[in-house]
Amino acid sequence: MDYSFSLELIYLVASVTYILGLKMLGHPETARKGNLIAAGGMTLAILGTLIFYKGAVPTFVYLLIGLAILLGTVSGWIIARKVKMTKMPELVSLFNGMGGASAALIGLIEFAHYTGHRLSILTILGGIIIGSVSFSGSMIAWGKLNGTLAKPLRLPKYNLINNLVILGIFAFAAYMVWSGTDSQLFLYLLFFAALTYGVIFVLPIGGADMPVVISLLNSFTGLAAALSGFLYGNMVLLTGGILVGSAGTILTFAMCKAMNRSLVNVLFGGFGDKSSESLEGSSHTIDGEIKNTTVSDVAILMNYSNRVIFVPGYGLAVAQAQHAIHELEELLESKGVEVKYAIHPVAGRMPGHMNVLLAETNVDYGKLAEMEDVNPEFQNTDVVFVVGANDVVNPAAHNDPSSPIYGMPILEVEHAKKVIVNKRSMKPGYAGIENELFYNPKTSMLFGDAKKVIQELISEIKSM
Ligand code: NDP
Repeated sequence: MDYSFSLELIYLVASVTYILGLKMLGHPETARKGNLIAAGGMTLAILGTLIFYKGAVPTFVYLLIGLAILLGTVSGWIIARKVKMTKMPELVSLFNGMGGASAALIGLIEFAHYTGHRLSILTILGGIIIGSVSFSGSMIAWGKLNGTLAKPLRLPKYNLINNLVILGIFAFAAYMVWSGTDSQLFLYLLFFAALTYGVIFVLPIGGADMPVVISLLNSFTGLAAALSGFLYGNMVLLTGGILVGSAGTILTFAMCKAMNRSLVNVLFGGFGDKSSESLEGSSHTIDGEIKNTTVSDVAILMNYSNRVIFVPGYGLAVAQAQHAIHELEELLESKGVEVKYAIHPVAGRMPGHMNVLLAETNVDYGKLAEMEDVNPEFQNTDVVFVVGANDVVNPAAHNDPSSPIYGMPILEVEHAKKVIVNKRSMKPGYAGIENELFYNPKTSMLFGDAKKVIQELISEIKSM
């Protein structure tokens, strides 16, 4: 039997499952299945490698591999089951960091085996640099998201220093390839320099920009894995790495667009300046008064409306109010009110957060409207119900050039006839800035925990 042919065939099938899985992840209805298909392909690739690999491998190594798989599977399973949806970006950065570390470790081990092969050494050093930056950068991003490293930390002239460090790393790596050195000292110097760059690259960036950074580091990890695949001539590692790299890059671009950041600005570490301002607020002063409303007034308002649009945000996820809002939607529809959900691309704390949250409660996907489609509809809407959202409806993004979120596309809810905002207090959202929408004469504030308020609205409307 030709083992290498069987293995290549398995790798081909696995690669196809990754592409299929990725495609299916593009829609909430098929996402779960897509994830399982790709995971099945990955299992197949691992088993195929273990069974059909032709080189001489001591039994001891198989035991180590088995132990590593067991440890990874059990801890991954437990962590993924336990993690709260709102903590998902942290988990993604942690997992991504592990991928980067693996790619870097492969490079460290293989360097001594390829002395004299310039292309292989180039590939190895590339994997070490990219993997290490991805690992240490992801760890810092993880610390920022869980609040340990919440404040951006900037050295004087950090932009210049960062750029000099990365240029120095590239120059040193180029020297190592050109000289054909086999120095382990040089290798570890390069490794630690790349780890340091990952730290100083992410530290100055503000917490609100972390999703873009994580997505960018994710594409780095993909690239590092693809380099390992290239080194070993392993097609499935190569394909998987390329897919992660390109998907991460596409997501990075999409998020930059949604947050009004340019990728060049991200890549050269120049961003984060704006989010530091966010902690101090903008120079713009807000006129107007806050108007409170009650559950019974809002219930009457919604009950007698023709069209209501819900705007969910991070607070909906915190309150776990997705089931309650779905019930409210069905109740209003049964009373002849047309209901939709307006979804901002960066509402919540991860891309697609609101879609995932609402899919959990089986909201009809046709009722979720994307920002560009729904913005022109607000002017014909009787009531907009903003639930636990803040930054994504802040008109300062349009009106206040000094605001840190100026230029970010927002849901233009202020064009509706009436805006009801539900949150617990006047505290700001993620960007740390005031929201002039709350002072708009059309807006009334309905303070309280989202789940509790929605449940009260439901019983009030039912009793009408
Ligand atoms: P925001 O963080 O701007 O606002 C959320 C609001 O929810 C807060 O003002 C809070 O006010 C309220 N809230 C919290 N808990 C509850 C609760 N139990 N019941 C009712 N309200 C509650 O969220 P948005 O979704 O509007 O915007 C997302 C922000 O996060 C943007 O700045 C985006 O850039 C950033 N971001 C986005 C990511 C993504 O990929 N989606 C990832 C990371 C950051 P109060 O405390 O008064 O209740």
